[in-house]
Amino acid sequence: AATKTASKTDVLIIGAGPAGLMLALWLARLGVDARIVDKRTDKVYSGQADGFQVRSLEILDSFGIADKIWNESNHMIEVCFWNPDESGCIRRDNRVVNGRAGLSRFHEVVLHQGRAETFFLDAIRDSYGPSVAGGVGATDNKTRALVQERRISVERKVMPTSLTIDEQGAGDTTAYPVTVTLRHLSEAEATPTQMLSNVQDGLFRSNLNPPDDITMPPREAQASDAGPAATAAAAENDEVVQCKYVVGCDGAHSWTRKALGPEFDMVGEMTDYIWGVLDIVPITDFPDIRNRTMIHSASNGSLMVIPRENRLVRLYIQLTEVSVGSGRVDRSQIKPDMIIKAAKKIMSPYNIDYHYCDWWTAYQIGQRVGNHFSKLNRVFLAGDAVHTHSPKAGQGMNVSMQDTYNLGWKLGLVCKNILQPSVLSTYELERKAIAKQLIAFDHRFSRLFSGRPAKDILDETGVSMDEFASAFRQSHMFTTAVGICYQPSVLVAGPTDSDKSEAIGSIDENESVPQEHVPQSQAHSTSALSTACIVGMRFPSHQVLRHADARPWQLHHKMPSDGRFRLVVFGGELSSPSTSSSQLDRVNRLGAWLADTLLPRLPTITLMPGTTNLHGGGRPGYSLATQKPPSIIDVLLVYAGTLQDEEGLATSSFDLLGLHEVYHPFDPKLGHDYDKVFVDRPSHHDGEGKAYENYGIDRTRGALVGVRPDGYVGLVTSLDETGWPEVSKWLKGILEPRANGNE
Ligand code: FAD
Repeated sequence: AATKTASKTDVLIIGAGPAGLMLALWLARLGVDARIVDKRTDKVYSGQADGFQVRSLEILDSFGIADKIWNESNHMIEVCFWNPDESGCIRRDNRVVNGRAGLSRFHEVVLHQGRAETFFLDAIRDSYGPSVAGGVGATDNKTRALVQERRISVERKVMPTSLTIDEQGAGDTTAYPVTVTLRHLSEAEATPTQMLSNVQDGLFRSNLNPPDDITMPPREAQASDAGPAATAAAAENDEVVQCKYVVGCDGAHSWTRKALGPEFDMVGEMTDYIWGVLDIVPITDFPDIRNRTMIHSASNGSLMVIPRENRLVRLYIQLTEVSVGSGRVDRSQIKPDMIIKAAKKIMSPYNIDYHYCDWWTAYQIGQRVGNHFSKLNRVFLAGDAVHTHSPKAGQGMNVSMQDTYNLGWKLGLVCKNILQPSVLSTYELERKAIAKQLIAFDHRFSRLFSGRPAKDILDETGVSMDEFASAFRQSHMFTTAVGICYQPSVLVAGPTDSDKSEAIGSIDENESVPQEHVPQSQAHSTSALSTACIVGMRFPSHQVLRHADARPWQLHHKMPSDGRFRLVVFGGELSSPSTSSSQLDRVNRLGAWLADTLLPRLPTITLMPGTTNLHGGGRPGYSLATQKPPSIIDVLLVYAGTLQDEEGLATSSFDLLGLHEVYHPFDPKLGHDYDKVFVDRPSHHDGEGKAYENYGIDRTRGALVGVRPDGYVGLVTSLDETGWPEVSKWLKGILEPRANGNE
């Protein structure tokens, strides 16, 4: 028998859609030994998901790629609701803001998934810096070695055929207990057949189709049918990989999920709603075609208009003429002509047609979620592999990317011996709760969107359009993902009872996550110190000025996804003559404790070139050699500026070097770091961020905020000695102590 090749990797990612690529990007940015395989020959080029929600854009910005999406995408600023009037004819009922102003510096934009995949692939490559691309990156030797050893790029035409876990070895962090056999496919095996037309369609991946794995029988079966020579050839193309961790990001028909056994099956239901999707350049007299628009017709179903880039418009259309009565859909009925015919009926008396169709598909809405997101914290499932739902609220790609954004740093830092492996359990804890909220939300939203509009209040089988509009308005904190609040765990310091009641009161109930989407017990904060840094929620961003040069920055831009935890020291009014000495003293005492006591006990991290200079600080990926790798904890100081000059603008009155060195770390080769101290005061050119006001932090007292590498608040405490033990306790539960073998 032919021998199979054998190899080892710390992390094997199966599937290179949005979930897999986000994970690969994290691992590339952390310099982790990982591989990513996909059975397809290439990435998605058109169609599929298109909506980028606010939190996803913030996350992509932390990797330096949101601006590309922001610039190319179409921005959806307003949303229109069209409903039947008394005569049954559709008319515009309302035009409102799409989302909620002030939640973030971003708002929802649309661009097709394939472009995002391209940006991910570029960003993974750029993680290793210009030195690898033949440029001039001046990284230190250790980083250079990591870069050479650990480059990740998507390996296409590769799919797994078997997966086993050595359960005995699962508790040993140095072990490689997961064995996966990978098959390298031929071009023909890896190319899906486009069905029914020459236009790119998504039917081959639609849930109306059986999983296409069925068209690729197990190699052993294929080969043995063809005789012994074929068996040997097949085995030669197989590779056995020993892995520390495996992550199934292989979509709704996930092979990985099935390999883990029936207890990993998703539970939920398939609705009777069949939807068609058309990406077209429309020719129409419908007035709101360039707005996000929801149309409910009196009796012909519903339609959603999503204006897109390149004059494209996506129409989501409920197909009332396709029967699911018998439980099976006749797929051969569904063609673009049929979908546009349904659209015409819904939009009548307006006309709509097209010459150019970019992509189309049809699917049945299924709302399912897995009971388990991980087996033994060695094999994980993420994205569509573990939750599926309707695409109407634009959540699929977003929640999938956010799953692996949650998992990536945890896996990466565990592989680098920086994070305690027990932290991996928080992935399921945090993301399963979100998936369940997503399915509950989708259930409600789909019923309201797909239902027939009520004729009047006595029409009990119809859907109230007021209820629909109100559900839409209330959904923003959830759909943007800004309202997501992770439960208490080792990563999220738990609230005291008094904190809990104060925090819940601090969220405006009309504009927050619908009650069913965030259990009350999850919304917690040390609101006495900061009303807007809520423990378990993402740390918000506001404009502050760099102390050294008065340049305005979004605070998020100083918190890139580089694997570091952050202690944001809100130092209060350091420049006010009345309070400066005592407050400066408090800030410096904290600095001394951090530098002398806390940080020496914690690991350091080798930063990859791709995490540097992401936002206007020089050439991205260009990093100078440092004497020693920085601490896993990055300390940022934001103080409240108070002095006014003759033009009424605040100026700062003290020198950076008067602060403890932890706030301006000194490197013998590079001098002081001037990029760690910021002031909240008006900018000369860019208005004011009002950071203290927006973070809800007292300017005289300040606060200390602990932020996880994924930007979620883990701890809010006091600057002075009473808060220090809380910081130690929080980090002690998460990080390994500093040791030689940390990386
Ligand atoms: P996927 O994007 O499905 O990626 C899975 C990857 O795994 C693929 O690259 C696949 O080739 C690979 N793979 C699968 N099996 C294997 C295997 N055995 N071995 C190796 N590789 C494998 N969302 C929206 O928000 N709006 C929309 O309009 C929208 N329309 C959609 C239309 C269709 C037809 C589909 C299928 C999905 C749509 N979605 C939409 C959902 C959105 O595309 C998904 O939620 C999102 O892509 C999920 O990302 P993922 O990475 O989890 O999975």
